[in-house]
Amino acid sequence: MQSHSDIIIVGGGPVGATLALALADTPFSVQVLEAREDLSRAVYKRTLALSYGSRLILERLGIWAQLSDVTAINNIHISQRGGLGMSQLTATEENLPALGYVVDYGELDSALHAALSKSKASVVTGARVNSIRNSAGYAQVQVTQTDVPCSLTTRLAVVADGGAGQAQRVTQEYDQHALLATVTTELPHNGCAYERFTPEGPVALLPNQQGFALVWTGTPDRVAELLAMPEDEFLTALHTHFGDRVGQFLTVTGRTSFPLVLRYAQDTVASHQVLIGNAAQTLHPVAGQGFNLGLRDAWELAQAIRELGTNKEALGSRSMLQAFQSQRRTDTGSSIFFTDLLVRLFSNDHPILKHGRSLGLMALQYFPPARHMIARRMIFGARG
Ligand SMILES: Cc1cc2nc3c(=O)[nH]c(=O)nc-3n(C[C@H](O)[C@H](O)[C@H](O)COP(=O)(O)OP(=O)(O)OC[C@H]3O[C@@H](n4cnc5c(N)ncnc54)[C@H](O)[C@@H]3O)c2cc1C
Repeated sequence: MQSHSDIIIVGGGPVGATLALALADTPFSVQVLEAREDLSRAVYKRTLALSYGSRLILERLGIWAQLSDVTAINNIHISQRGGLGMSQLTATEENLPALGYVVDYGELDSALHAALSKSKASVVTGARVNSIRNSAGYAQVQVTQTDVPCSLTTRLAVVADGGAGQAQRVTQEYDQHALLATVTTELPHNGCAYERFTPEGPVALLPNQQGFALVWTGTPDRVAELLAMPEDEFLTALHTHFGDRVGQFLTVTGRTSFPLVLRYAQDTVASHQVLIGNAAQTLHPVAGQGFNLGLRDAWELAQAIRELGTNKEALGSRSMLQAFQSQRRTDTGSSIFFTDLLVRLFSNDHPILKHGRSLGLMALQYFPPARHMIARRMIFGARG
């Protein structure tokens, strides 16, 4: 461990590792402190829906070509159960090779770490950060490695710990859990992702290799019941819940669940400190926006640092960090608003809202500019 680095990144998950790679060609020294002892063990066993915009970032870092487990999303089919109206976003209409991709979190994490091991950034594993304090022109980072505490200094501490740390964040419970699983179906996916809204919460099927990654949201009790169900009963329940668009559900594997919350920091910067990725905001997975937003945090922070040239004095300064925060505000704020609104508008059985939703979906389907605006927003973020 180095006692001083220009930049310390707390957390080597996909967002922290992306930032470290994006900084590899700057004149600043970068140290990543990662709590995991063994980087081959990913934090989560889950798929991630990446937008086409995220692919462009990963391509620039040379990571995209390293991923083998990638399924393209060519269309997104949006509907609501028990209500009229549906809409479809398509890659052809957006003139893109795909709207997004489904990738494996573990494979992406490993590819980023393999690239980092060849870069000039230093990665320290088994290093758990306990606190960060401001100290006259520096941040002081308290870290424990194999039970040995030590104190490091840096011009800029970037917290990318996925929200595990002490940062103050606004928390809003949804009283919903997400059940994740892999399913196979009677009909092939043909690159189509399905987003279906039901009064109990959204259900998403993302094309993943030969089957689908399932994200089924419901009350905590309902999700507990679904987790405990025998396979055939579960597949029938899913068919009843989702409908007939992909025919019968044939198999299910790897059922697991998460409580869903919205958490975000109102202030993502402090003296010599900045929060990015899930440490700054944890979103409901309804529109698969969380990691894409975190990746844009990392990419834009790297650009803000690059603009400093060799000026170490400016690194972590109040003016630099406040400029970064205001630059990110629209993208972050609108992603939080959009995701939260979707959950609130669509997860209920209110008759007036139901008709409003039908009209909204029909308008989306028959008014291409609205569709185009939503698709661009999801793919590239608020700054387009
Ligand atoms: C059910 C579900 C489905 C999702 N699906 C999608 C999706 O389809 N698309 C999408 O874009 N997003 C999705 N997300 C969100 C996505 O998983 C997160 O946005 C992403 O994992 C955030 O990456 P991160 O690097 O910020 O944090 P993490 O992936 O949590 O990584 C944080 C890292 O920090 C390390 N760490 C933690 N504490 C410390 C410490 N004190 N000191 C040192 N290191 C530490 C951890 O070991 C870890 O390596 C989903 C989330 C959920 C819950």
